[in-house]
Amino acid sequence: MLIRCPICHRELGEVPEDFPHRPFCSARCKSIDLARWLDEEYRIPSPLPDGEGGEGGDEHLIH
Ligand SMILES: [Zn+2]
Repeated sequence: MLIRCPICHRELGEVPEDFPHRPFCSARCKSIDLARWLDEEYRIPSPLPDGEGGEGGDEHLIH
């Protein structure tokens, strides 16, 4: 089965069924792909509200 690495697009030619890095050519390309996945997840916007926590409301507890 011919495989082309989706990261560096190098043709791997024939690889054994149990080739550990399929469909990538190496562990390096595999980790690059993983990093891309993680990067996509980080890109999901989750803005933290800046205005909260600055009210000082807890000070009313002190008597
Ligand atoms: Zn590669």
